[in-house]
Amino acid sequence: PTRVRIAPSPTGDPHVGTAYIGLLNYIFARQRGGQFILRIEDTDRTRFVPTSEQMIFDSLRWLGLDWNEGPDVGGPYGPYRQSERTEIYREHVQTLLNNGTAYRCFCTPEELETKRKAQMAAKVAPKYDRTCKYLPKETVEENIAAGKPFTIRMAVPEDGSTTFRDELRGEIVIDHNNVDDQVLLKSDGFPTYHLANVVDDHLMQITDVIRAEEWISSTPKHVLLYASFGWERPKFWHMPLLRNIDKSKISKRKNPVSLIYYRESGFLPQAVINFLGLMGGGMPTLNPIEAANAGSTKEIDIFSVAQMVEKFEFQRISLGGPVFDLVKLKWLNGEYLRALPQEEFVAALKQTILSDSYIRAIAPLVQTRLETLGQWGDLTDFFFRDNVAPPVDVWVPKKRTPEETLAFAAEMLTSLEGTDWTTEALDAALRALLTAKEWSVKEAFMLLRAILTGSAQSPPLLESLVVFGKARSIDRIRRFID
Ligand code: ATP
Ligand code: GLU
Repeated sequence: PTRVRIAPSPTGDPHVGTAYIGLLNYIFARQRGGQFILRIEDTDRTRFVPTSEQMIFDSLRWLGLDWNEGPDVGGPYGPYRQSERTEIYREHVQTLLNNGTAYRCFCTPEELETKRKAQMAAKVAPKYDRTCKYLPKETVEENIAAGKPFTIRMAVPEDGSTTFRDELRGEIVIDHNNVDDQVLLKSDGFPTYHLANVVDDHLMQITDVIRAEEWISSTPKHVLLYASFGWERPKFWHMPLLRNIDKSKISKRKNPVSLIYYRESGFLPQAVINFLGLMGGGMPTLNPIEAANAGSTKEIDIFSVAQMVEKFEFQRISLGGPVFDLVKLKWLNGEYLRALPQEEFVAALKQTILSDSYIRAIAPLVQTRLETLGQWGDLTDFFFRDNVAPPVDVWVPKKRTPEETLAFAAEMLTSLEGTDWTTEALDAALRALLTAKEWSVKEAFMLLRAILTGSAQSPPLLESLVVFGKARSIDRIRRFID
């Protein structure tokens, strides 16, 4: 039976790339009567964000991509959260130590850094020099007895090459010269992505690995690991990356990449899914002559998940790099909105932009400031708009130039992106920035207020940012700078 999975890492807001790959896996499973599994890859503790996992669940459910097995629904191959499987990885890495396909590395981070720098200076691609692969047995024993910390690395064969098949691209051959002796287990006992991913895909009986193209370069390592364990490997399907209009890999500098953004800005889940379905190029399209005659692409561009399950062909996927075009997504969303029965349209408003919880969060910010309820709109319009346009004399402080102000806004964006979205954290981030940049609190708050609200007066700024939400606030600042 077909078993596929997505394996997001809880490192922040759920990514549109996760939904795109999730959709493709979902369709693949449904077309074959198979299972779609959600696994949380949370072994990189330095990038771990505690709220991220729940946001991943919520956004995928919002899009209707239900999974058959996962951390929250259970299943026969659990646990589905890698941090709960560390014992399994340690046992497995022992197998590799025993059969000589892995070894302990006692090099310290400083030593590795020195070697890396030397290689960079000599203009060779940095790669571990395999010092510890050839340590005498006694030295290894001594080091262990002395309690020296170590990592465990895979012993990549020094000659030859690895060949595997990518189901969309055909055969891929990688010379072992270009494969690093990858760390499998870190000194803290946590596995790296490569080890955990291969062990889990095997134990969870995954038949097809469908993931983004950026993992192709990791695949030879995975293929070698399957061989070292003596396991059969799954099939690999690497999907083209979503691209910005300029063809670079989609990035938050140029497009909102958080699913939270799309949900909170009032995109309908069926429109987002439809749009992501267009990205792969797996749905039937018109040939250029038909397209020219058709005049509009509406009939072919609009489809449901059920239609995708029926018609999507993985072999049709084009490797060119689909452009994530927000203009097209908005057009699609508009089509879906117009097609809603009025009751559902009202319901959609009440679920998002006019939800009880949103109004409740805004109310205390303005209750003391209005004299009639009718003034609600004057005071809160920026919470309900897609865009605001602050006049220049409002956003440029008296003693600054527009250029300098924009540069400061860009600094502010970077610093706020890395911040928890609470009033305390926002306040601390802004003040830290001021100290570094010699801007006054007044200037910075004025600028941020102008960007967020479009005007010089507003309800309390930090509270407003929190209520408006991180995803949309960041997007507003980003678009202001552009
Ligand atoms: P960014 O550079 O914007 O931070 P990232 O690659 O660091 O992106 P991750 O959070 O690591 O983002 O990625 C989340 C998931 O989305 C991963 O599975 C990744 O493969 C996938 N992904 C990231 N970027 C793209 C893309 N441009 N197209 C398709 N999938 C992507
Ligand atoms: N944890 C990886 C990610 O963040 C999984 C990649 C894969 O599917 O192998 O996407």
